[in-house]
Amino acid sequence: MSFLIKGGTVVSPTGPTPADVLVDGEKIVALFAPGTGPGDLETMDATGKYVIPGGIDAHTHMQMPFGGTEASDTFATGTRAAAFGGTTTIVDFAIQRYGEVVQDGLAAWHAKTAGNCHIDYGFHMILGGVDDESLKAMDQLVADEGITSFKLFMAYPGVFYSDDGQILRAMQKARDNGAMIMMHAENGPAIDVLVKQALERGETDPYYHGVTRPQELEAEATSRAIWLASVAADCPLYIVHLSASKALEQVAAARDKGRNVFAETCPQYLYLTLEDQLGAPGFEGAKWVCSTPLRSKHESHRADLWRGLRTNDLAVVSTDHCPFCMKDQKEMGVGDFSKIPNGIGGVEHRVDLLYQGVVDGKLSLGRWVETIATTPARMFGMYPRKGVIAPGSDADIVLYDPSGRTRIGVETHHMNMDYSAWEGWEIAGKVDTVISRGAVIVQGDEYKGRAGHGRYVPRGLSEYLV
Ligand SMILES: [Zn+2]
Repeated sequence: MSFLIKGGTVVSPTGPTPADVLVDGEKIVALFAPGTGPGDLETMDATGKYVIPGGIDAHTHMQMPFGGTEASDTFATGTRAAAFGGTTTIVDFAIQRYGEVVQDGLAAWHAKTAGNCHIDYGFHMILGGVDDESLKAMDQLVADEGITSFKLFMAYPGVFYSDDGQILRAMQKARDNGAMIMMHAENGPAIDVLVKQALERGETDPYYHGVTRPQELEAEATSRAIWLASVAADCPLYIVHLSASKALEQVAAARDKGRNVFAETCPQYLYLTLEDQLGAPGFEGAKWVCSTPLRSKHESHRADLWRGLRTNDLAVVSTDHCPFCMKDQKEMGVGDFSKIPNGIGGVEHRVDLLYQGVVDGKLSLGRWVETIATTPARMFGMYPRKGVIAPGSDADIVLYDPSGRTRIGVETHHMNMDYSAWEGWEIAGKVDTVISRGAVIVQGDEYKGRAGHGRYVPRGLSEYLV
């Protein structure tokens, strides 16, 4: 089926341009100056709308086992919610636990996704145990499986933690095969000491989750990861969910030297704070327990992160979507914040929350599209199939209404969560229509997609390496 998206303003990283977009089957086949396209086609009216590439959320954890429970969105509920929010591709994390075969972990994630996803999806691989076998598996995943990024943890000793020697070995392997090392950069062993001391003092409220993960321990780990990558002959390094000013300084300094160092942040760090959310009375703060944690509003983190997005020291905005319900899940940590499952759900709200940054004068329109779609596609080897409105690209397109408004809350969201981290927020802009590979899956408030429409996207190497 062919149709012409007519009268809209196409937004690319270089800015807005009025253009009509011709879709044929699953692909974009042409752009036309307004009104110059073929006249005999079905049309979709985009007057007054931005026409943007479908959002790419490069950091999600659907139905991920964590802390004795499992993230509450399945691939079915989570990808449907993502679609409502204008995201047409996710990259989720398949997991190898310590002692498991990497390929078995990957197969388990393929089994979870098969037939269930409403939008396209790829995988990064979490390496829970770096050893001779898993290093060999990295080559195989890059060569045969379309998985070109591997996540390691400097946090969570006894769970996902890798020591510096393991990290260095994985980085050396990545330098050889071109893969990206993604790093959860927090000093886990030091955090564990602070957590134990806090609990011994009777500091058990969710607020202390943040206090025991000070920004110095994010900055130190970020710096150490950058130096280890340097020792590994400038292995490509991507710092996930960067939250703090001092960590950002480390990334900026490395980038100023031309290093293959990249970073993402998440909407929660751009807007929410240690005091106002994590420090909410009683157990309420559990809603915002995530790692890295929300930072203090009395320091300059939020302003610095917005600036980092403008200067490209922060290249990508992902959600780190990892939802847990309050009932039976977050509640596991009543009386002991260290037992609260770590994670915030937000896969549905990223495109809107970043558009609010445009309205607030913190990002340009072009930079909005770049950080939510184009750069994630290029960073993780999906460009130009994804992340751009151009002939030959997948017809993953969002018609975005800048004059609309989005009200966020548990009554209206589509994520499988019994609360919203953004309850009551009303922000500018609204997703109007979502197209995934040529199929309209969201139109206004109506859902037209289906589980099983989403396909696995094998990925190539990052385009940003030097
Ligand atoms: Zn994560």
